[in-house]
Amino acid sequence: MRYPHLFAPLDLGHVTLPNRVLMGSMHTGLEDRARDFDKLAAYFAERARGGVGLMVTGGIAPNIEGWLKPLGGRLSMPWHVARHRKVTKAVHAEGGRICMQILHGGRYAYHPLSVAPSRIKSPITPFTPRALSNRGVERTIKDFVNCARLAQEAGYDGIEVMGSEGYLINEFVTARTNTRSDAWGGSAEKRMRFPIEIVRRTRAAVGRDFIIIYRLSMLDLVDNAQSWDEIVQLGKGVEQAGASIINTGIGWHEARVPTIVTSVPRAAFVSITAKFKAEVGLPLVTTNRINMPETAEQVLASGAADMVSMARPLLADPEWVNKARAERSDRINTCIACNQACLDHVFENRMATCLVNPRACNETELRIKPAAQRKHYAVVGAGPAGLAAATTLAERGHAVTLFDVANEIGGQFNMAKRIPGKEEFHETLRYFGHRIADTGVELRLGVMASAEQLQRDGFDAVVVATGVSPRRVNFPGSNDPRVLSYLDVLRDNKPVGARVAIIGAGGIGFDVAEFLVEHAPSPTTDVVRWSAEWGVDLGHSERGGLKPAKPQPPLRQVHLLQRSAGKPGARLNKTTGWVHRATLKAKKVEMIGGVSYRHFDDAGLHVQINDQPRVLEVDNLVICAGQEPNRALADQLTALGVPVHVIGGADVAAELDAKRAIDQGTRLAARL
Ligand code: FAD
Ligand code: NAP
Ligand code: SF4
Repeated sequence: MRYPHLFAPLDLGHVTLPNRVLMGSMHTGLEDRARDFDKLAAYFAERARGGVGLMVTGGIAPNIEGWLKPLGGRLSMPWHVARHRKVTKAVHAEGGRICMQILHGGRYAYHPLSVAPSRIKSPITPFTPRALSNRGVERTIKDFVNCARLAQEAGYDGIEVMGSEGYLINEFVTARTNTRSDAWGGSAEKRMRFPIEIVRRTRAAVGRDFIIIYRLSMLDLVDNAQSWDEIVQLGKGVEQAGASIINTGIGWHEARVPTIVTSVPRAAFVSITAKFKAEVGLPLVTTNRINMPETAEQVLASGAADMVSMARPLLADPEWVNKARAERSDRINTCIACNQACLDHVFENRMATCLVNPRACNETELRIKPAAQRKHYAVVGAGPAGLAAATTLAERGHAVTLFDVANEIGGQFNMAKRIPGKEEFHETLRYFGHRIADTGVELRLGVMASAEQLQRDGFDAVVVATGVSPRRVNFPGSNDPRVLSYLDVLRDNKPVGARVAIIGAGGIGFDVAEFLVEHAPSPTTDVVRWSAEWGVDLGHSERGGLKPAKPQPPLRQVHLLQRSAGKPGARLNKTTGWVHRATLKAKKVEMIGGVSYRHFDDAGLHVQINDQPRVLEVDNLVICAGQEPNRALADQLTALGVPVHVIGGADVAAELDAKRAIDQGTRLAARL
């Protein structure tokens, strides 16, 4: 067997888990409204069918103050139980097990009723919390216990007490946010009474045969946080109080260190769980950036932990566990840790889904059913849109011929995967490569499809997924051979000098900047280098696990420019944009808004910045000024009377990303 540790059962006393995969808690937005619980049940049922050992729901508040946002998910009244029963019934019908996470938002709660141990505002929310009184603390503990009892009544196999990521419990145990001098603060022992009491009283209320997972913050990644000894003391306290499993929490939400984005190395924080392993006897779960069975097996085989937690990887592929068990991990639709459709959506108050799997959280609505009548489709363009459309059409039983003028599939993803920190994008192309073979798509690479040929071939319809072309710029000197497009740099490997100006500071401008300043190999492939660059003390010798960051000097001197006023990067994705901005800042990239381009000559790029002329002495310009749709083929086919469907960048180039391309391709193919 290829993954013996991953598929070793885990005996918890009253229940034995079939494998070591915990589906970690992740908010989807479906928890917040009673009417979405049928969808939530379908979402979890699909993952239970996929073989996950144990699942944890998104965070559910034990009371109104603990809501993450107004009217967020809450379980505090007997009439809330019925909706949760839908979830537990659906999961149990598939032979799965599920715990409900109890999450009190504390000062991260996004509403004016928020509470905290002390009246200290968080840097990431606009509301100053009210400090809980002594009675308030007691009432909150009772609310946790009540919530756990109701979860038991709803049929959950257990609960997870959310004690990390900077939420209420984490705020109690940390001097940074707890300045109380009563029985709940003042010393480390008093600060940790709050979670220990929650676990102790919950265990007394729910009896022995109910799982209590405690999510313990093992690396706060903020200043004035817990010391290692305090974390160990808390872990031991929680164990004695009756927890069944300890899960690892990494980093507060306000931390300046990225913890889950794609540029974080795989399994980067496992050494922290491993350090803790010697301290307690309970099963330990490790987490963050574990997305493939090889990594999970390696972690478990090393003895660092007893289980691995994955949330997003199971959003991306509900069949992850079954595929690993069948030793077909090359068929896994890997989570690329982009956050674009999951966490970004949640932070924008939208329902979560997945960039590589648009069915996630849409299980009841986006069904891939066999086609009523088999047709023959041509799909032109094997970028994300065309790949999703072609393989979904073929999966439904249609005959599909997929054309690309390039000699490899992937379209622009072939450039994305070359960006340091975006190595995971390779996985999507590996996945689609197998999907093409498995679904029987006829792949014709190196072929420029023409309207006349497609018409002659007599396809029932053509799906045009021809993508985009880079927008050109027009100012004196812009035709100089030293002016390159991002295709020249990322696709064609044209040489680039030591001093560069990038015109356009969208997603691609930022990516090109990272490509030009970063030394190979990428820090994402090396945990030691990555942690040094970000100032993460994986030995946890200081409080919070931080040390001074030591970024490597940049490979080139880069200026990143945009015409709009304001800071470049303000429109990058919500949960990842700050990482890109911080990376470029550390590499001394000059990011300038409000730029007018005048001309380019031997002296460099002549610009005007806020009415001030300036010459940027650079060897090359790289143009990343957005894109235009490649619609010519669609127009020619329409003129010839061939039925056409246009998707991806060929349809609309503005604000195009792979999320839209894959979603549109999948939805079209599910309909045809
Ligand atoms: P494309 O990927 O452009 O594919 C079109 C395909 O059609 C090409 O392979 C082309 O060769 C082929 N083609 C065109 N005409 C013909 C013809 N007549 N005959 C045969 N073949 C033809 N998106 C994200 O969501 N997240 C990211 O992090 C991200 N990072 C990126 C980083 C970089 C550096 C780049 C360049 C892009 C990035 N993107 C990212 C954007 C993402 O790659 C695009 O949105 C996506 O590829 C668009 O998909 P598409 O299928 O519409 O078009
Ligand atoms: P973009 O985000 O639209 O950015 C284009 C940039 O070029 C802007 O900074 C724009 O700013 C500038 N620009 C536009 N027209 C110009 C002109 N005529 N002359 C000079 N500058 C001009 O497009 P992109 O960077 O090409 O990215 C394409 C898509 O890929 C994006 O929609 C993005 O979602 C996706 N992508 C996503 C990621 C990610 O991490 N999620 C990464 C890469 C790409 P000014 O108009 O202010 O100058
Ligand atoms: Fe993973 Fe991106 Fe899908 Fe989120 S959207 S689950 S990060 S692939």
